Amino acid sequence: MDFTRIAQGAWDSRTRNARLQSASTEHFDLLIIGGGITGAGIALDAASRGLKVILLEKGDFASGTSGKSTKLIHGGLRYLKQFEFGVVSEVGRERSILKKNAPHLVYPENMLLPLYPKGSLGKFSLRAALTVYEALAGVERGERFRMLTPGQALEKEPLLDPQNLIGAAVYKEYRSDDARLCISVLKTAVEKGALAFNYLKVKDFIQENGQIKGVHATDETSLKDLVFHAKVIVNAAGPWVDELRLQANAMNEKHLMLTRGIHLVFDAEHFPLSTSVYFDVGDGRMIFAIPRDRKIYVGTTDIPHNSSPDAPGFTVSERDYLLRAVNSHFKGIDLKAEDIESAWSGLRPLIAEEGKSPSEVSRKDELFEHANGLISIAGGKLTGYRRMAEKVMKKAVRRLGVQGVICGSKSLTEQITLSGGDFSGMAEVEEFAGIQWGEAKQIGADKLTILRWVQRYGRNTEKIVELAYEIWPLTEDKQSVPKLAEILYGITEESVVFPADFWIRRTAAMYFEWPDFPNEVERFSSTFMAASPAGESIYKEQEYAFYREIDQMRALRTVIT
Ligand code: FAD
Repeated sequence: MDFTRIAQGAWDSRTRNARLQSASTEHFDLLIIGGGITGAGIALDAASRGLKVILLEKGDFASGTSGKSTKLIHGGLRYLKQFEFGVVSEVGRERSILKKNAPHLVYPENMLLPLYPKGSLGKFSLRAALTVYEALAGVERGERFRMLTPGQALEKEPLLDPQNLIGAAVYKEYRSDDARLCISVLKTAVEKGALAFNYLKVKDFIQENGQIKGVHATDETSLKDLVFHAKVIVNAAGPWVDELRLQANAMNEKHLMLTRGIHLVFDAEHFPLSTSVYFDVGDGRMIFAIPRDRKIYVGTTDIPHNSSPDAPGFTVSERDYLLRAVNSHFKGIDLKAEDIESAWSGLRPLIAEEGKSPSEVSRKDELFEHANGLISIAGGKLTGYRRMAEKVMKKAVRRLGVQGVICGSKSLTEQITLSGGDFSGMAEVEEFAGIQWGEAKQIGADKLTILRWVQRYGRNTEKIVELAYEIWPLTEDKQSVPKLAEILYGITEESVVFPADFWIRRTAAMYFEWPDFPNEVERFSSTFMAASPAGESIYKEQEYAFYREIDQMRALRTVIT
């Protein structure tokens, strides 16, 4: 197919190189290092205040922790255990804001918490904890928890082990897709004028008179070095925050502690769970088992990670820990390593606290402002990204003011609808999906495809349907039109540079669309290469890295302890 006939999009990887060249000659108000949820949130906050913003991400957006979480927009129940009342109330409030600003991406789901005598919570303590939690988190009346008898709990989830079951509570959690949330926040920032480049690695800082004025970066698609200048620089590099603070000579007495968490995905045929369950493993940890489409994902672990953040990896003992946890808590389930369809592994960038174990360390965010001007932020949660951005911007606005830059002193993000999220609520999302299905039948898109598009892209689904109509006459392979249209949308509107960007971060197909996923990757491999701004050998290297990532994930099925 001839891609040159497809019109340029707003965040088009085909025009990336030209935009990059021109950006390296400009002077920005704010430069953000890191395209995870923290950096994305700051970019949106800053751009909506009218600032000139650039964000640089060394890999793909959301390729760090922000694509490898439990994918929940938490109300913060677990923080009650650590008496972090402030965190509970903050994330509870943030959750309501997100639900309003992106109802297609963030939706409530029942979470079942079963009670057994060996667990850390009893009926009364759980009821008390949930009451306090819901009051602090400002949970709406219609979404409050209910206590269930053992019979009611089993009716809700027949896979619960009935032996010794004392009862359960059912409360509301919010499910999302972390990488999609991150891309949507960033896309909204781009719509408000921010520049955001993936595959741009910051290598070094430019300092003049003891102040940081810019960065040296390498374009990983061409290996060319570029320089970017800005009045204020923010380090939002997640698990790499200390690496950059060291490079900038901006360390203080505090440092990061990385802990690793993995998730495993199973087909519902092997683990036919019908409702999300949050269960007590008996060693002080709680684990989630969450249905998504026809798959169930289970996680997470929490162990110290002392090697490079570039390759979190998996260990067999973590895998076996999760398998054992599921098999011993659900009736008639005997999951084996070979049943694992996919998996992911992520690192929590926590602020180290002397003498505390990984699970005890606070999830609070922390901001470091160095005398040389570098502002670094780490810790926190996906859920709290908007508030973290506000805190960073408070410091940044003060620094910009001293340099004569005037901008909005208040954050506007509470009122900003995320790209494609212009719905009054779930009912309108569903109505929109129905209309799009009607539109897209003629170009061969089935109901599931449309539903996935609406959950991923919201109202931007219309653009994919338009693209499908545009390419319909250009290709013989009519069956491929819906997928081709989605890939083209990714390339032209969401900065997809390499295949992994699409299959992992834009769609999560690598995690949730087995067994079709490997065939689809092969079927559309040439599509990406034709449009990629990268040189051929770099493109091939990235493609091999993607295949290695799939192999590493699949090796979990075969490695025996
Ligand atoms: P990251 O997402 O890691 O982003 C940092 C980015 O900086 C990376 O993409 C990296 O490539 C880039 N970078 C690094 N160095 C450079 C450089 N030199 N130049 C340019 N770019 C660079 N939170 C929730 O709210 N709900 C959950 O359900 C949840 N579950 C979790 C489960 C697990 C297992 C883990 C590990 C975390 C979970 N969290 C959850 C926490 C949440 O995921 C993180 O707090 C959040 O994603 C951190 O985002 P970040 O942007 O700070 O870091």
